[in-house]
Amino acid sequence: MASINAHYLKLRSSYLFSEIARRVREFQDAHPDAKLIRLGIGDVTRPLAPAVITAMHAAVDEMARAETFKGYGPETGYEFLLELIARHDYGERGVKVMSDEIFVGDGGKSDSANIQEIFAADCVVAVIDPIYPVYLDSNVMAGRAGAPRDDGRYDRVVYLPCTAENGFEPPLPDRHVDLLYLCFPNNPTGAVLTRAGVKRWVDYARREDAVLLYDAAYEAYIRDPDIPHSIYEVEGARDVAIEFRSFSKTAGFTGTRCAFTVVPKDLMGRDAAGKRVSLNSLWFRRQSTKFNGVPYVIQRAAAAVYTDAGRREVRSAIDFYMENARIIRQGLEAAGLMVYGGENAPYIWVKTPPGLGSWDFFDKLLGQAHVVATPGAGFGPSGEGYIRLTAFGRRAETEEAVERIKTRLTL
Ligand code: PLP
Repeated sequence: MASINAHYLKLRSSYLFSEIARRVREFQDAHPDAKLIRLGIGDVTRPLAPAVITAMHAAVDEMARAETFKGYGPETGYEFLLELIARHDYGERGVKVMSDEIFVGDGGKSDSANIQEIFAADCVVAVIDPIYPVYLDSNVMAGRAGAPRDDGRYDRVVYLPCTAENGFEPPLPDRHVDLLYLCFPNNPTGAVLTRAGVKRWVDYARREDAVLLYDAAYEAYIRDPDIPHSIYEVEGARDVAIEFRSFSKTAGFTGTRCAFTVVPKDLMGRDAAGKRVSLNSLWFRRQSTKFNGVPYVIQRAAAAVYTDAGRREVRSAIDFYMENARIIRQGLEAAGLMVYGGENAPYIWVKTPPGLGSWDFFDKLLGQAHVVATPGAGFGPSGEGYIRLTAFGRRAETEEAVERIKTRLTL
């Protein structure tokens, strides 16, 4: 029998979603007539934009003809898409990113999980808390997180708590770290960083020779013109940051799969002898060894997001979700709850009423309003005392859920 990677046994079981499912099932069995509304989902509900669909159809037709058929493509993405990303996502914001610094992939999840492979096993990792669990779990699997502790943390990971008290802007680590995962706009808190806020991290990373792993999967939801969309809008970031982007929440690609990661050529690591090594070339090597590219049809679909019609249509879907966010925010505030996020992000982070933990409030919302939320504790120890709602639902259901919370919930 082959020995297994024992680090996998240190993973906490995916308790959050299975426990939600169990409680919902139990409630539904006891109340078969209750019409549940799920406001906890992290998936989009609007269909792909017409411009995307048209481009996808055309690309499928190309695959049907010998003259235009495509086999394996470039592992890091077709030039037509790389050039559009460089121009629209970066050039238009005054940021210079070259095509060969962009790596098209099949998801922000896989890229943010895989990136740790190019770093040493003894690198010290810091995560903001609460977080998107993938950053942590991928480091647990690689053996970098150490052992699980009773308090829900791992003993080699540095946790940076984001709470209402610090405005969900985490403190800098009080010791040296090598890798630091940041996500803004944030899932789950919906918090954003100003330019000065981003600069604080860039300065820290430059001082400490750390690498920032900056997840900007929700940048398309930023409304405030003073909030940077890319970490590279801040001077000095090219030397210290890798950025993850995704078409999932930007353009409804959660089931279609396309994303990209930027690894600037200025960004260096160091080998055991102290010699500087390009992280761009390591990531290129990793991707070209383990990944064979995003399908041509999907990259053509992603390219259509940058056409005039595509941009208009994608913006309209985002506006739709942000109107949901406004409805949730205002409704819950009117119900007397403390609400955060939802202004530059599709996530609304709600403080539980005094004396109630995340799961207590989850049960109360389910029992009284028949609304399913996500308990904040599932995103990390500092998520205790909050629940997450999302703006990705259908309008009528979102409105009804808010109305029920306003009229049925006893606080
Ligand atoms: N990053 C964050 C912060 C997310 O919340 C998600 C999905 O929920 C992802 C990345 C994954 O995106 P993708 O669909 O591109 O894998």
